[in-house]
Amino acid sequence: MNKQALGKRGIAYFTMEIGLDPEMPTYSGGLGVLAGDTIKSCADLGVPIIAVTLLNEKGYFRQKFDAEGSQSEFPVDWPKEEFVKLLPVQVSVNIEGREVRIKIWKYIVQGITGATVPVYFLDTNLQENSEYDRTLTSFLYGGDQWYRLCQEIILGIGGVRAIEAIGYQNIEKYHMNEGHASLLALELLERTKKDSEEDIYKKYDLDSVRNKCIFTTHTPVAAGHDRFPLDLVKRALRSNLSFEMPDIFIRDNEINMTWIALNLSKYINGVAKKHGEVTREMFPGYSIDSITNGIHLLTWAAPAFKKLYDKYIPGWQSDYFSLRYALSIPKEEIFQAHFEAKKELIDYVNARTGIGLEHDTFTIGFARRVTAYKRANLLLTDINRLVEINDKTGKMQIVYAGKAHPKDGGGKELIKKIFSKIKELNPEIKIAYLENYDMTQGRLITGGVDLWLNNPLPPREASGTSGMKACLNGVPNLSVLDGWWIEGCIENVTGWAIGSVQKQNADSAQDAHDLYQKLEKVIIPTFYKEKDKWLEIMRHTIALNASFFNTQRLVQEYVLKAYL
Ligand SMILES: *Cc1c(COP(=O)(O)O)cnc(C)c1O
Repeated sequence: MNKQALGKRGIAYFTMEIGLDPEMPTYSGGLGVLAGDTIKSCADLGVPIIAVTLLNEKGYFRQKFDAEGSQSEFPVDWPKEEFVKLLPVQVSVNIEGREVRIKIWKYIVQGITGATVPVYFLDTNLQENSEYDRTLTSFLYGGDQWYRLCQEIILGIGGVRAIEAIGYQNIEKYHMNEGHASLLALELLERTKKDSEEDIYKKYDLDSVRNKCIFTTHTPVAAGHDRFPLDLVKRALRSNLSFEMPDIFIRDNEINMTWIALNLSKYINGVAKKHGEVTREMFPGYSIDSITNGIHLLTWAAPAFKKLYDKYIPGWQSDYFSLRYALSIPKEEIFQAHFEAKKELIDYVNARTGIGLEHDTFTIGFARRVTAYKRANLLLTDINRLVEINDKTGKMQIVYAGKAHPKDGGGKELIKKIFSKIKELNPEIKIAYLENYDMTQGRLITGGVDLWLNNPLPPREASGTSGMKACLNGVPNLSVLDGWWIEGCIENVTGWAIGSVQKQNADSAQDAHDLYQKLEKVIIPTFYKEKDKWLEIMRHTIALNASFFNTQRLVQEYVLKAYL
């Protein structure tokens, strides 16, 4: 691409992780998958954007279990040259007074009409760097606080320099996908420095940086907001002083990446309406909007549904809104497409686990990062009750998957508890826990189960996107009213709620009770005895929810509210 064409790209999207291809382990979960889906829709729509991320050469981790469900983690080796191309440019950043060199790999996302979006992967694994510095872009969310800070320097500061070195001269907007990328704003701020000024507040031009920056925050959970002791930041960034502005970036001797982004961005948003509210309460005094998350439909549609949509809604791939016409697809064909998607999943699970799931048994799916607030074991709270529903109302089977962060001891314990309940429930209720949850399994499970279950403790789920993948494949959700489901749930029309939206502090025992009631009184009877009604619900999940909770709509919102 020549310089003139490069100059036309005016938006740079910075993200710590990105899920573009199931074979590229450069993501951990929802945040990365959302980044990948967003960039794919930008390519579909021809948005003049570029993306910057870390190479994550050893991935997040490969998950293995022993018989008790103890998780072990292994590095992932992936053939990067098959996906990304090394560019003939390098940049460097200064950490602790030392130069750390960065090479840059390019990946091209091709949209449906042929437009492309380049994604640049930063890589410090160069001979000139110290042994330690060479590992800085190896592990996503690995290492200690110092390692994370160094990674964020590479991403934020190195990223800004990288895109300039590649030749982008006219970046007007820098979009920080979560606070991990905040240091980019400090790099921009540093460039506004007037050496002649003594007063630190006049020394820098905050407004000009704000005009360029956009910040999307993705979680109300504290662990999602990186904080570093001031000493650590001073040690790392000695030559860059803009962060020393008190009140703006420093509180209690800590630098908080979220504060940096909040104070240096003109447009700030949460990722669902409710999350916008929660974020405004967390950070009073800022103008915080919301843009509800979505998914890239072409990535997440089961082959059978893709075919069905191509047949009945031609053009849907470039116009996701048109999925509202799913209401006119004959129910029998929805049934058939779902049967194929379900068979694909069941055969996959059986081949891997030998558990013998059945093709026509009611199947519940639960797959997400395993951490306490997501309550992966809520469904297994009272196994006697579950067996009673299974015996009296209708047979069920369950597919689980999910990784716990290597340092999340509570999450790892939760997996072991689930393994132990799985043994207790065998053989009455067959439950598979798949190893190494990834995008491939994500697509198979969200597409192939009969019911998608989500039961985090409100209000901690910022959005959630797996349930949207289910909708696209006609799979109804049963979920607590948190995140996107507050917007997506119409009881008995698109799925069902656990608990109510008024309830501030959810009580897990009450939620488990609600969950069992819904399964027993409404969901399982409808599934087995009222096929026509069930298929009507399936159609509505597509027409009402997939047509809206997608990244085409999301990108259009970002363009109108943030980029233009
Ligand atoms: C879609 C997806 C997610 C998102 O999960 P939520 O819990 O819904 O936010 C995470 N991991 C993988 C592998 C996915 O495919």
